[in-house]
Amino acid sequence: MAARPAPYLDELNPAQREAVEALDGPVLMLAGAGTGKTKALMARIAHLINTGRARRDQILAVTFTNKAAKEMQDRLAKMPYRIDGGVRWMGTFHSICVKLLRRHAELVGLKSNFTILDKDDQLRLLKQLVAAANIDDKRWPARQLAGIIDHWKNRAWTPQSVPAGEAGAYNHRGTELYAQYQVRLRELNAVDFGDLLLHVVTIFQQHQDVLEQYQRWFRYVLVDEYQDTNVAQYLWLRLLAGGHKNICCVGDDDQSIYGWRGAEVGNILRFEKDFPGAKVVRLEQNYRSTPHILKAASGVIRGNEGRLGKDLWTDTEEGEKVRLIGHWDGEEEARWIGEEIEASQRGTRGIRPFSLNEIAILVRASHQMRAFEDRFLTIGMPYRVIGGPRFYERLEIRDAMAYFRLVVSPDDGLAFERIVNTPKRGLGDVAQQKIQKAARANGVSLLDGARILIESKGIGGKGAVELARLLDGLDRWGRMAGSPELSHVELAEIILDESGYTEMWQNDKTPEAPGRLENLKELVKALESFENLQGFLEHVSLIMDNDSDEQDEKVSIMTLHGAKGLEFPAVFLPGWEDGLFPSQRSMDENGIKGLEEERRLAYVGITRAEELCTISFAGNRRVYGQWQSQMPSRFIDELPQEHVEVLTPPGLYGGGYGAAATGGIETRAAEANVYNSPGWRRMQARSQQRPVSQPNKTKNQVIDLEAISSHTMGERVFHQKFGYGKIIGIEGDKLEIDFEKAGVKKVVARFVSGADD
Ligand code: ATP
Ligand code: MG
Repeated sequence: MAARPAPYLDELNPAQREAVEALDGPVLMLAGAGTGKTKALMARIAHLINTGRARRDQILAVTFTNKAAKEMQDRLAKMPYRIDGGVRWMGTFHSICVKLLRRHAELVGLKSNFTILDKDDQLRLLKQLVAAANIDDKRWPARQLAGIIDHWKNRAWTPQSVPAGEAGAYNHRGTELYAQYQVRLRELNAVDFGDLLLHVVTIFQQHQDVLEQYQRWFRYVLVDEYQDTNVAQYLWLRLLAGGHKNICCVGDDDQSIYGWRGAEVGNILRFEKDFPGAKVVRLEQNYRSTPHILKAASGVIRGNEGRLGKDLWTDTEEGEKVRLIGHWDGEEEARWIGEEIEASQRGTRGIRPFSLNEIAILVRASHQMRAFEDRFLTIGMPYRVIGGPRFYERLEIRDAMAYFRLVVSPDDGLAFERIVNTPKRGLGDVAQQKIQKAARANGVSLLDGARILIESKGIGGKGAVELARLLDGLDRWGRMAGSPELSHVELAEIILDESGYTEMWQNDKTPEAPGRLENLKELVKALESFENLQGFLEHVSLIMDNDSDEQDEKVSIMTLHGAKGLEFPAVFLPGWEDGLFPSQRSMDENGIKGLEEERRLAYVGITRAEELCTISFAGNRRVYGQWQSQMPSRFIDELPQEHVEVLTPPGLYGGGYGAAATGGIETRAAEANVYNSPGWRRMQARSQQRPVSQPNKTKNQVIDLEAISSHTMGERVFHQKFGYGKIIGIEGDKLEIDFEKAGVKKVVARFVSGADD
């Protein structure tokens, strides 16, 4: 072929070039973070078009997240080779499957205008089926069934092909209900998320002609982030590329972080079997990060067993060491990061100035974002949350706040509608219409309409009992809100408890439920910095209004999962504490495998950073109004010391955390102790026993610390709500008390006083 200019090739190293120029047949590019896999993939697209192998609409390029798909489009647009009109079939697995399914919907009994159900719709449908099948939703929650069905769909199992080994699922009714669910979806001309892939795979498997049409059409298939494909996605790819075998997959086994969603690292190993003769290209030069950052990341990931293993190197300048800093608590951590960002914009410490767009904060769990959002709003720092709603927009937070709103303003009809049947109280559409009617007829609020309805016996059965209970609750909470003796924080806990809202999520078996519970705890925590519920609600409505979207210079906040494939000059990694990161849940549920996945997540996090990476942890976090002393993450111990600089937190603590608390241990020793965890932990433990007064802390927190040490077992005490009792257990600042009237209860120490006081 006549040599055409191919400027994109000049930007590649020999190994990348090899992968790009091997246009035909299967190619597997297996390489560590920042080695230019995605870059090579983009060059490959250009090369396919430039050499006339394929037209721009004959190339299929898939990745995982919407953010990553957008990033690919942006990168393609920036290449020194113009592809007019872009690449049409480039997107996430889901977005591509929607397009395919619309074209062939009739082959699976759907119409092309099918609707895609969200999680709520899906659940509502399953609940109907569960009820119709006479299954006790309390024992066998429909959410559990939803999780099982998702899992099966991720493995590309139709109701007919679910293996016999799964027969026991959902009390032996799983497969039967799965079949019914699929029938019902068809009747509704609807699909859920998992169906998008499953249906397309089914069509390809059952209609050879359709499959061949696409095999011919998509001459080349390219996959980014291949390590995270699940079985259904893998089958889909294998079918599509089965004819010409022009498939190029790029991935990194060390970055496989979606095991919980059914992704299989094994797909990488299977590739060479399914596509014999595949060209395997390894890239070892990292172009993203400084040597310190790279070596810190390598040090951590080395802790995993059974890796394919690879050595990364870089020839960039040494740069800054990875910075490590411990804070007193989570709020302090957020405050410090806010200040660091301001300082780094000015380019202090001899580091070049960073613009806000160059800075990202990557958290393990989305509830961690709240502290940053609140802090940044306070100091007017523009930020964006990527890959999910902002904290106060989340479903469970909006539900909980609807309860609070109703307690503060009983006329709030929208809040009433939102929670009247959440959790389920047997108040479906019919009952709700009755309430609306009663309210309109009497010219009163929905809440009063509901009261009238109950009094006039216009509603009966379970719904009536539950509605009456809700109304009683709202009355009671309203009175408590007016009482000077009960704090609004405790009131919030009472509302979420007594309304059954917390319990609803506790009984929920879907993978999202624990995260939602954590968010609720975080919400209660947020209340602590306000005088009362009303003040808090006002704060939130201001936050929600204050959407500075016109501004495009913003700090990015996102989860580690959402950050895959992205890069930022400066990255903050807060909350490196055992239990939070690595996540306790992940370790409890999946043991060593869970821990290894967490470690890969740490690797993903560190390798997002180009120039500056700052890891932090807090010695204390407040969980549900209760101080918890936190241990630094075990991943911190795994960071190679020579690539880490330990920072001393600002003067607040008299130099070095714990220095004041431990009677003057020098900063240097405190630093050393970070690496000598048992020592550090002992120091932590001691600082817990002897609380330091914190000039910057709010009043509550000081009281709390005192509360920890001020009660003794067996002491007779008084509680504002439950009266007199004897302490039978002390756990942090929670006390277990045997009340004379109310029986044994756990309460927050802050609300308890000595009986003789
Ligand atoms: P990840 O595993 O995190 O997805 P990756 O392997 O896909 O990383 P890229 O994002 O493609 O890596 O590249 C990382 C950075 O290195 C990008 O900024 C990219 O532009 C740059 N880069 C890649 N290859 C080269 C090269 N040959 N010369 C110069 N810069 C390069
Ligand atoms: Mg990439």
